[in-house]
Amino acid sequence: MTSESNLNNISWISGNRPYQFFGPCSAESPEQLRATAVGIKEHFSNVIFRAGIWKPRTRPNTFEGVGEEGLKWLVDIKEEFGFQVTTEVANASHVEACLKAGIDILWIGARTTVNPFSVQAIADALEGTDVPVFVKNPLNPDVSLWSGAVERISKAGITKLGAIHRGFHLADNKPFRNAPSWDLAVQFKTDHPEIPLICDVSHITGNPDLIPHAAQRALDLDMDGLMVETHCNPQKALSDAKQQITPFQLKELWGSLIFKSAKSKNIEFQNQLELLRSKIDRIDDSIVELLSQRMNISEEIGVYKKENQVTILQLQRWQEILKRTLKSGKTLNLSDKFISSLYYAIHEESIDKQTNS
Ligand code: PEP
Ligand code: MN
Repeated sequence: MTSESNLNNISWISGNRPYQFFGPCSAESPEQLRATAVGIKEHFSNVIFRAGIWKPRTRPNTFEGVGEEGLKWLVDIKEEFGFQVTTEVANASHVEACLKAGIDILWIGARTTVNPFSVQAIADALEGTDVPVFVKNPLNPDVSLWSGAVERISKAGITKLGAIHRGFHLADNKPFRNAPSWDLAVQFKTDHPEIPLICDVSHITGNPDLIPHAAQRALDLDMDGLMVETHCNPQKALSDAKQQITPFQLKELWGSLIFKSAKSKNIEFQNQLELLRSKIDRIDDSIVELLSQRMNISEEIGVYKKENQVTILQLQRWQEILKRTLKSGKTLNLSDKFISSLYYAIHEESIDKQTNS
């Protein structure tokens, strides 16, 4: 099954965008991997087949993966079904074992990305190879840490780099297992437009009912592919049983998605888009001009404050500004979240200007 969107295909990834990273959370047995691959192959041909061999688990005494012997099972899947195969590596010996076994693509998990020492040890083990590596976002909502991990792998000489957005652990993740924080994925994409970004909708949602919505959202943000944990018998899965779907459900999911492309050949659409974008450009010019005027006045105030030995931060005035702008924002259909982050940024810049005036 292919999608209509095949612009910007990345030559080292098999298939067309959106790339299909399907397969179980964990490799459990050769039979389980094979039954899952048979189900997937009925509906899809260019799959990157995933399965965890070494599983990072929150608590001990749970299933921690089958270990090295599972690599051979994955390679058997590659040979029988023609899928590329991928697994998670968390240390240098995992990397060596995967390279020796012939695993096509490696990924670094969220619990590893948080630790620069671990990422560096993996990077050192990758020196001199050019195996493709995907880096999942760290558990905490820190895009720099994510970029830093990608940079460490890149500095080791890996050119086939990818990233996986799997959601973040926030104080309140509801209704998701991991908060998607889509803005952070967009930030990563903006900072690294050349790196394919895959969305792992299984670990974001933790719930098959929420997968279609998250998957569509990822496609609408022009992500390059989806990772969906797929198991021949999810209820019996040894890890992440609650979030895995069957190959049949995967087919249904794919059929329900709307694949959009980043560009359209429709001239009327393009003209209309140009027109609206030029309006936005004019408004943006005015916004920047007004912000500059506002900062000049702030600076003037800063000089008076200094002359009169008055503190730069005037808490009451700042609270009034926030209250006033939130109120007018509300009447104009602008969310509290937006107005408050905008005004915190304006106020911070204003304090900086007054500090340096
Ligand atoms: C996984 O993909 O099975 C996994 C453990 O993912 P994450 O590192 O995103 O938790
Ligand atoms: Mn999992």
